[in-house]
This record gives sequence, structure tokens and C-alpha cells, in this order.
Amino acid sequence: PLNKPSNFLRQIIERDLAEGTYAQRRWGGEPGDAQHHLQGQPDPARIRTRFPPEPNGYLHVGHAKSICLNFGLARDYGGVCHMRFDDTNPEKEDQEYVDGILDSVKWLGFNWDANGTSHYYHASDYFDFMYRAAEYLIDKGLAYVDEQTAEEMRHNRGDFSKPGTDSPYRSRTPQENLARFREMRDGKLADGAAVLRAKIDMASPNINMRDPAIYRIRRATHHNTGDKWCIYPMYTYAHPIEDALENITHSLCTLEFEDQRPFYDWLLDRLSEGGLINKPHPQQYEFARLNLTYVITSKRKLKALVDEKHVTGWDDPRMPTIVGMRRRGYTPESIQLFAERIGVTKSDSWIDYSTLDQALRDDLDPKAARAMAVLDPLKLVITNWAEVMGTDNFLDDCTAPVHPHDEARGRREFKFGKELWIERTDYEEVPPKGYNRLYPGNKVRLKYGHVIECKGATKDATGRVTEVQAELVPNTKSGTDGAAAIKVKGVITWVAVADALEAEVRLYDRLFAVEQPDTSGKDFHEELNPDSLKVVKAYVEPSLASAKPDEKFQFERHGYFVADRKDHAVGSPTFSRIAAMKDSWIR
Ligand code: ATP
Ligand code: MG
Ligand code: MG
Repeated sequence: PLNKPSNFLRQIIERDLAEGTYAQRRWGGEPGDAQHHLQGQPDPARIRTRFPPEPNGYLHVGHAKSICLNFGLARDYGGVCHMRFDDTNPEKEDQEYVDGILDSVKWLGFNWDANGTSHYYHASDYFDFMYRAAEYLIDKGLAYVDEQTAEEMRHNRGDFSKPGTDSPYRSRTPQENLARFREMRDGKLADGAAVLRAKIDMASPNINMRDPAIYRIRRATHHNTGDKWCIYPMYTYAHPIEDALENITHSLCTLEFEDQRPFYDWLLDRLSEGGLINKPHPQQYEFARLNLTYVITSKRKLKALVDEKHVTGWDDPRMPTIVGMRRRGYTPESIQLFAERIGVTKSDSWIDYSTLDQALRDDLDPKAARAMAVLDPLKLVITNWAEVMGTDNFLDDCTAPVHPHDEARGRREFKFGKELWIERTDYEEVPPKGYNRLYPGNKVRLKYGHVIECKGATKDATGRVTEVQAELVPNTKSGTDGAAAIKVKGVITWVAVADALEAEVRLYDRLFAVEQPDTSGKDFHEELNPDSLKVVKAYVEPSLASAKPDEKFQFERHGYFVADRKDHAVGSPTFSRIAAMKDSWIR
């Protein structure tokens, strides 16, 4: 039914919808109200997904894939996607990150309000329920308090080659365990003195099933619950419960969680047997995480780049964070398009960075206004200007379409005069083979202006060209009959010295110099690209005087640029390159 390529997740969802897998599940209100969730009506939503970040950093392009996937599937199948903070780890979490994450998800074009209800949740709202569920497991003989040291526990867990060894505390009675667990809760034990473990199978071939820890003691102030708790649930225990309480149907996560799925099912099977959560419980499905060439997607390492000042902040335009990409000029539409094009699979691979840039170009090509800019300026003097125009001071009016495929958007206006700025690479004293631009004796069109014939150039003592001279070929102005009569191979961009605007242009390159950073075993710091930013003084056409911060343009021949959202201002025009053109359009 959808005009989109299918994938394994779409097939699973379509099957569940066809079979009515979740149609009979009882839904009793919002998950904050966990007490009542067994009463009430069947869930009116057909599928429920969730995006569950931990608020310990800013979101990156990998999260963008997950956001587009979860919110996109809910949208496409008439379901709901929950925005949930997986905030069970108080030490690393912060309100600044909560705000930043919400802002990024909204900016990407998604929201968690559906059917008149806000689906915005915190895992920490379920701490009471999680605690009750732990007491239930203890009561059923399915969990015990272990007081081995961390070292003993690690040792006794065993490894792939051998089964684990039971803890001496494993045979405690439910009564003993309950009393001890309550002492943990009441602050009677020191941090790290004990953990609550699920009692499953110390000989399981899956190490995650060898009695995983589900609660730990940690005296830390939580950004939501303050000092109410000194014990906190472990992620592997908390996450399935969060999903179940919110009546999630399809819990999508990255492949590294595949080994956790047996515990996810073990826990939710036990809790639904006990009537603590709804049936059928959510199912976990794993997909391949995004690996993007020349990019690192690890919040911890991105944080290190910020803290160590390798970049100017989380929103540095070189950062693969959503705030960084926004400042760089990527649009929400281009990121969504990128996510759709890469799709979802069940095996890891690397996506070429060019896929992202192509999505950006495809999004901006029909939208962005055009402009001319000279990024590496060299002066060009029209030596016969006065002869043709009557006086050296004459300025000729030229125009160009704001957008070549949409005349309704009007025309840009700029001057052509005796002195112009051209790109340094558009002149060669001795032209390489196939070079059609300026060299002595060659004719070239200045786009939207006139045809000129190159006469030569002046050099300084070091041999560097300081000025190019050319003669205007009369009656060749673009748009006139004379223009049609003359054929030249080369067309170059330019701006007039008389009305050009001086601008700072930031030419960003990849942050890492190696294609698959952080995979060789080397410290990722050594893989940073030392030349990831080049700042140039450029001349741009006068229409850019009215550019607004965050406005995007195509600088003809050069690529897509954005007026920097922080630093661009009237009087200090500042543009950043988002992406170059796919092929330079001239040889
Ligand atoms: P990091 O390792 O960068 O800290 P994380 O997985 O710990 O990332 P969370 O905040 O827990 O970060 O992630 C929220 C969601 O985003 C999870 O469902 C996770 O699977 C998904 N996610 C994180 N990184 C990627 C990625 N590179 N590609 C696809 N999904 C991702
Ligand atoms: Mg995580
Ligand atoms: Mg992680």
C-alpha cells in the first residue's frame, strides 16, 4: 500500500497488522499510570514504536536514522511513536541534553503528539513499578541479592569456553532476599556492596543469561527523581519494562542488542505471567546501526572532541551531531531523504558519506536561490572597457534568474565593470589539455555578462599572477542577438569589483582523515583531519547582502552554502560550504 521500498521491519509490521497480533491487548491509559494498565480498552493505536535516547549527550546522525525509522514507521502505519528518555543512569545525564535532544527531534520534523495525547515519557517515571516488579521476581524465586565482589562476580560468570559458577548467595530464600533488597533500597548498604540479579542459568551459552544484574546501589542525584532512590535499575532490566508499560509493539534497536533479546523475553514473559504487564508483550527487533564513512558516531567520543576543543562545540559544523548538521546547513528533508535511501538491513555495513551529500543536493537543488561567488579571487581588468563603453567608470547592468527553473522567483541584479573578480584557477598561462578557460588568446564567456578575450597577465616577483588582462568582445552580452552568434567553450563565474560584497567563507572538510575512523585500533585522535576547516576571504554578488542566517544558496559552480546561523550578520556576511557540486561543471 505504501509507495516505499519494503524492508524486513515493514514486513513484520504488515504481518502483525494483518494477523491482529496486538488488536486484543488491553490498554488502560498512559504509562505513568502503571497501576491501572490492565484495565480499560483495547489499544486504539495499531502499532507503537519508541525513540529512547539516554540524555547523556547530543544526538548524532546515527540517532537520526533511528528517529526517522521509528517515527516514520508509526506515521506510515497509522501508529504512535513515543519520545522516551531512557534516564536510568543518573551520573551522566543532564537537563541540557534532554532539551537538546527534544529540540533535535522536532527540528528533524517529528513530534510525539498523536491522537490528542502527548507521548512523551521518562523511564525514571517507572522506578516505582520497576521496584515492585523486582520484589515480584524475588517473591517467585526469580531474583536474588548477590554480595560477591565485582571481581568475584566477573570471575564466576565464566566465559564462552566454560559455564559459570553459582554464587554462594544464589540459594538464599525469597524472604532473605526480600529483606536484603529492602535494606539496599533503604540505604543500609554501601555503593557496590550488593546487586540484585535475575536467577536464570549460570551455564547458559549466552553470557547475558548467566544471572544478569538488574539493580545496583548508587548514591547519585537523579535529574528527575532527585535523591529519592539510592538503587537504580540496570538498562537491560529497565528497557523491556519501559517498553511493556508503554504498550510498545515493535521495539527496534541496533544489532549489538541481539544477545540481550533472550533476557528481554525472559523478563517480559515472567512479568506477563504474573499479570504485571499486558499480553502479548512487545517484541525486540534488531537492525544494523549506521556507520558513515569519515564519521564517528559515539556520544562518548563526540563529547571528548568537544571537551578537548578539537571542535568549537556540539554544534560545530563539522560534527555529525544533529545540531552540528543543522548549523552546517543540512536540512531536515535532506536527512529524512538520506535515511530513506539507506534503508534498514540486518547486517552491518558502511554508508558512503556521498550518500548524505547527494540527498542534500537533491533537496536543495529545486529550493536554493543561486548566487555567484568568487572564493579565491584574482583581479581581471577589461583593458578596452572605456573604448567600448565610453568611459572607464561605466557600470553595465546584468541580471540572472534567482532559480533557473522558476522564472517566477524573479531575477538577481548586479554590475559588470572594468574591474572584476574571477577565480584564480580560471586563468592558466599555459593551458593544460582540454582547458577552456582563460589563457592568452582564448575567448571565454563571463556568465550572464559578456565574452572576453584573454590578453595576458601580470606577475609579482615570486611568479604569482596578480592580475589578468582581457578585452571585451563587443555585442556579445548574454540575452542579446549578438550572444547567440558567438560560440565559446568556456563559461566562468565572476563578480564586479564595484558591487561585490566581501564575505568570510568557511570551507569545511571531513573531520576524520580515514575512511573508517576508530576501527583500526588506533586512538581516534590520531585520525583527525588537520585541515578540516579552511577560511577564505571571498567576494560574493550583491544580492547576498539580504541573506538571512540559516538561508541556503547554491553558489554557482561551487556547491551549496549556508549563511551561518550564529555568525552571519549584516556587515559581516559569513557563509559555510555545506556540500560541493557533484561534478565541477566546467573543465
Ligand atoms: P552512543 O553509543 O552514541 O552513545 P547509544 O546507542 O548509546 O549511542 P542512545 O541514546 O541509547 O545512544 O540511543 C538511542 C537510540 O538510537 C537507540 O535505540 C539506539 O539503538 C539508536 N542508535 C544509536 N546510535 C545509532 C546508530 N549509529 N545507528 C542507528 N541507530 C542508532
Ligand atoms: Mg545507550
Ligand atoms: Mg552506546
